[in-house]
Amino acid sequence: MNEKGLTTINLKQINRAKVYRYIYKKKVTSKQQIVQDLQMGLSTVSQNLAILEEEGLIERNGYFDSTGGRKAQAIRIVSSFKISIGIGILKNMFHITSVDLYGNTLFADTISLPYSNKPSYYEQVAKEIQEFIIANHYEDKLLGVSIATQGITSPDNTMVTYGNIMGNTGMRLEDFSKHLPYPCHLEHDSKSAACLELWNHQDLDSAVVFLLNRNLGGAVITNHNIQQGDSMHSGAIEHICINPDGPLCYCGNRGCLETYCSANALEDASGLAIKDFFSQLRVGADPRLLPLWEDYLNHLSFAIKNLNMVIDAPIIISGYLAPYFIDEDIDYLIKQINSASPFPLERSNILIGVHGQYAPAIGASLFYIQQFIDSI
Ligand SMILES: [Zn+2]
Repeated sequence: MNEKGLTTINLKQINRAKVYRYIYKKKVTSKQQIVQDLQMGLSTVSQNLAILEEEGLIERNGYFDSTGGRKAQAIRIVSSFKISIGIGILKNMFHITSVDLYGNTLFADTISLPYSNKPSYYEQVAKEIQEFIIANHYEDKLLGVSIATQGITSPDNTMVTYGNIMGNTGMRLEDFSKHLPYPCHLEHDSKSAACLELWNHQDLDSAVVFLLNRNLGGAVITNHNIQQGDSMHSGAIEHICINPDGPLCYCGNRGCLETYCSANALEDASGLAIKDFFSQLRVGADPRLLPLWEDYLNHLSFAIKNLNMVIDAPIIISGYLAPYFIDEDIDYLIKQINSASPFPLERSNILIGVHGQYAPAIGASLFYIQQFIDSI
């Protein structure tokens, strides 16, 4: 093929991608709007719409309200054209989720299965995933299976290099992928949750993410990127020491933030399951609970205040406990953070995640969604 031919093909691909991404971003648009905003000729836009429709990537249904003349046809992407599966591996269970091309959750469930670093465990997880794929007829539209695990992964995301909570140091992506005939990906669950928060806050430049899961996690976002670090432990705020004489952490040290601000720490202190803790706390059923919750928020605000000195940016509270936060909790946090602080934090700079315990699994699934959108 000559040079001119190649250039023409490239230009065609570029225009197709431009039109698709424009529709994707706008969610609903019209042909005229595309022509105007992309400054493309009407025939080029028409051609590309025909190609994208033929490929099944977009659909035209419904009309915009018109003040006169012909009504404009509403154009959308087909959000269910491809889907991605996200898995969240925990000590006693795993989460399974599927999302569409907008990252909307189509399905989220928890399956009880204690982790053990044995072939039978990986076979069982893969079997459940396969059944889920078949039950939902995802075979032809599945982009891949992305696995969020507790534990820090190697820079190439092929294995866990530090997994003291679950005892999964050395766990390999291959342990799962050899049983699954689809592309598979592995990542640290804190980073996955941060991906989801970034996805939900597209304008965010920087942030510190607190993942308030059964075990605590965190991530640092700068320049709209999640910091990995030279050895992948950037944002491991769970092991910041806030009291050298404090309780023993699973890492072997004392007084890590994990021992005060994980959901497990709150359950241990109250003797109640998280759901019961909050339902009783909110109705004032047990006078012990408010001081325990304030103690929790005091430690959290201590960490937020210190980290805000390092990264001057919004704080995102994500994970299992996030949906339990109410306005008064944020008021209380802000009051503690800003007491005698030279750099007060605006209330609007505390953002609360909405996906609860499924944040890592949903966040992991976005890996393949982003890859697909970028590949158009
Ligand atoms: Zn620790």
